[in-house]
Amino acid sequence: MVNNLTKNITILTNGKADFTTEQFEKLNKHNIKIIETQISEIEHKDGKLKNLIFKDGNKIAFDVAYGAIPFTQHSDIPVSLGCELTEQGYLKIVLFKKTNVPNIYACGDNSIMMRSVANAVSSGNTAGAVANGELVQEQF
Ligand SMILES: Cc1cc2nc3c(=O)[nH]c(=O)nc-3n(C[C@H](O)[C@H](O)[C@H](O)COP(=O)(O)OP(=O)(O)OC[C@H]3O[C@@H](n4cnc5c(N)ncnc54)[C@H](O)[C@@H]3O)c2cc1C
Repeated sequence: MVNNLTKNITILTNGKADFTTEQFEKLNKHNIKIIETQISEIEHKDGKLKNLIFKDGNKIAFDVAYGAIPFTQHSDIPVSLGCELTEQGYLKIVLFKKTNVPNIYACGDNSIMMRSVANAVSSGNTAGAVANGELVQEQF
């Protein structure tokens, strides 16, 4: 995706890269540089990235840095109620946004890998409608 925005890309692995030969060849084909040296500091001015400083003392200016940060839940309430997580840390849901715990539904970023407003709204609509339907049936 970043390759669509710029042709000047450097991958910083912050240690030995573990790409396969095929991956190395593909990155090379697209002139994507790889730096394996560990990063020691991010230099910024008022929050705007200026340089990355490496453990060997080198300093390189970058316009933008994208981080591949692992996903974590913001709230521990669902797990404390017994909701299971997927391997990637999302709430496990089945049809109609139901979690494994009866009467607990999940929608939006906490349970969808493709995180967007449209997905959050759509899944929230489904979860809300199904929860409402079940409450109505319970009372009828
Ligand atoms: C930098 C950035 C840029 C993005 N750009 C886009 C974009 O251009 N287009 C797009 O479609 N999507 C974009 N997204 C993704 C989009 O913002 C999310 O997918 C969407 O907001 C998810 O909605 P949500 O309701 O699931 O979660 P959130 O919007 O994260 O809402 C969850 C809410 O729950 C609250 N909360 C958490 N724990 C508790 C608790 N214990 N008690 C009470 N409240 C709690 C949080 O404070 C938060 O307000 C972007 C996201 C980021 C971070």
